[in-house]
Amino acid sequence: MSGSSARELAVSALSGASKVEPKFDFIGSAAQDLFGSNVFSLKEMQARLPKAVYRSVKQTMESGEALDPTVADAVAAAMKDWAIDKGATHFTHVFYPLTGLTAEKHDSFLVPDSEGAAVTEFSGKMLIQGEPDASSFPSGGLRQTFEARGYTAWDVTSPAFIIDNPNGRTLAIPTAFVSWTGEALDKKTPVLRASQALDKQVRRVLELFGHGDIARISMTAGCEQEYFLVDKQFALARPDLMLAGRTLFGAAPPKGQEFDDHYFGAIDERVQGFMMEVDRELYKLGIPARTRHNEVAPGQFELAPLHESANLAADHQQMIMTTLRRVADRNGFLCLLHEKPFSGINGSGKHLNFSFGNATQGNLLDPGSTPHDNAQFLVFCAAVVRAVHLHGPLLRAVVATAGNDHRLGANEAPPAILSVFLGEQLADVFDQIASGGAKSSKSLEPMQIGVDTLPQLPMDAGDRNRTSPFAFTGNRFEFRAVGSEQSPSGPITALCVIIADSLDYMASELENATAGGADLNAAIETLLKSVIETHSPVIFNGDGYTEEWQAEAEKRGLANLRTSVDALPVISDDAVVAMFEKHAVLSKRELESREEVYFEQYVKSVAVEANLTLKMGRSQVFPAAVRYQGELARTCADLKAVGYTFDTDTLDAVTDLVKDLQDGLAALQKVVDASPEGDLHAESRYCCDEVLPAMLTVRAAADALEELVADDLWPLPSYQEMLFIR
Ligand code: ADP
Ligand code: MG
Repeated sequence: MSGSSARELAVSALSGASKVEPKFDFIGSAAQDLFGSNVFSLKEMQARLPKAVYRSVKQTMESGEALDPTVADAVAAAMKDWAIDKGATHFTHVFYPLTGLTAEKHDSFLVPDSEGAAVTEFSGKMLIQGEPDASSFPSGGLRQTFEARGYTAWDVTSPAFIIDNPNGRTLAIPTAFVSWTGEALDKKTPVLRASQALDKQVRRVLELFGHGDIARISMTAGCEQEYFLVDKQFALARPDLMLAGRTLFGAAPPKGQEFDDHYFGAIDERVQGFMMEVDRELYKLGIPARTRHNEVAPGQFELAPLHESANLAADHQQMIMTTLRRVADRNGFLCLLHEKPFSGINGSGKHLNFSFGNATQGNLLDPGSTPHDNAQFLVFCAAVVRAVHLHGPLLRAVVATAGNDHRLGANEAPPAILSVFLGEQLADVFDQIASGGAKSSKSLEPMQIGVDTLPQLPMDAGDRNRTSPFAFTGNRFEFRAVGSEQSPSGPITALCVIIADSLDYMASELENATAGGADLNAAIETLLKSVIETHSPVIFNGDGYTEEWQAEAEKRGLANLRTSVDALPVISDDAVVAMFEKHAVLSKRELESREEVYFEQYVKSVAVEANLTLKMGRSQVFPAAVRYQGELARTCADLKAVGYTFDTDTLDAVTDLVKDLQDGLAALQKVVDASPEGDLHAESRYCCDEVLPAMLTVRAAADALEELVADDLWPLPSYQEMLFIR
């Protein structure tokens, strides 16, 4: 390369860069000492609070009940002292608005006194409740600007922590964000309400199985976060990456992921340096970062924390995304959390592993080792299968974003059809129950289960199927359709609600049967048989990427909601509203407001991308193409002048493509100008059916030009550079 475009400078700057700047190691500060050092943990509270106050807070955390307001001042004082000891000058109520981002507004602890000096202040009231002027967060009509006051309320179950900055520190308090009428404006409130609903219904089933003294039940969640790293020098030369988080142009690289040489490969030193810094930051925040590895695509990586209670896991997930972005920036990378940054290259998901249980009964999705446990497991497992069968469209709707649409159904991620993979052995058990309870098992090491006529359960249903959107993996389910950039809260809420609803049904059936005098085992057998018979169409152990499956799924009556625009309306379906209201998780108004916000987000992201396509097409791609075209034309004329002939194939091809590009840009502009206004459903339908295809036409011409135009004239860093150079 010879020119001096931003792209070329990026490449040359990189080649000389030192790989890892050593900043720290884990010798001076062992990981276990760092862990939780920035968290106002129970241990910290115990050390700093009067015994009675500590007990009250602990009780609140464990039971999920409301905090006794009389202890708030004491907690606030201790928290402030701790934070100031840590160097904090400010505090913030962190909340999670419907944009899926993390929001914070910082307040200083300092208040001037009458002598011109200042004292620090932080009362119980300031801890428990905040009133950010958050009127510009989307509320989907729940909050007019004239009644803009939303307030934040401390979520005692998620501990306060310190946000580090090289220049100071801030105390962060996780909060729920609600309108003054108490309606949820955020991602956290429904998770808290849904957890309660799940607790209530699981408890009923456990009581039927004879358990007493049942500790609070919660969903546990472990999210595998996939992401890409691109050197910042390249990213800065790509307006699409900077503003839309994905490439809107880019020819396929000569080498992609076909060799499978990246997945689990040795981690590049510079990337590993980044990962170590990420882990270090996460440890400080008490986030149990566990695995780190290369993913399938070049430039793609994964981080998975250990599972935690779902509400905490969701908060931690937000912190993980923030940390990834921040630390990437410090290390000269741009971290791409988008679901499909590079066309034709593997996309990124956030596999949501979940189970539910409590401290006394353990993981209720674990088949367990006693016959009694196994019957109980089958009831819970069947409840999940039933829930997914009845509410597949809702599960599709809660992962519906403009970004995730590029991934779902793109033959590398789970399809938009929601089916359940049980593994061969467990599926076999289900088949047998449905057909009347034979006892053979495909398992090598069968277990006994309590209900005599039920078949034996496999020890480890650990086989994997990567093509299923919803897979049982031995002692948990993995919901794989969640997008990498998404907050997991929507999916967690939906899962809690549909499973609670399913358990509600199953508990009622069992309660009625046993009240009528039936023996519990017989009642379970009848119920399982009927549930499995009715809902087995959702079970599919084959390859979810095939055409045949699409046809088969249709025969089975499973919905295939291909795009967000098809899926989002499900959020306010009558049946969904009735279920959410029954379990007191979200009201009709709250659900409708969410649907509206998500449609709005969809329209906004497509609009930004369309404008970027126009801008980049006109001011970057087109000039490069015509420069090259001119060069070819001049060469042709020069050669002719001296009597040579010049084969104009390339000039012809470039000329055709320049025309296509211009036509494409003009057509896209027309489409954008004609966008309907005022009706979100119509606008998003239009974005999906008109705008996105028009963008693709522009892209097709541009990408073909990239293959022809002289490399030194091409302004945009190529896929090859972004994916392979670090
Ligand atoms: P894989 O890539 O093989 O699916 P990972 O190790 O990358 O597995 O991630 C598995 C995730 O599942 C981790 O976050 C882990 O903590 C989580 N997990 C394991 N057991 C449970 C469980 N019982 N409930 C919820 N999450 C779980
Ligand atoms: Mg993984």
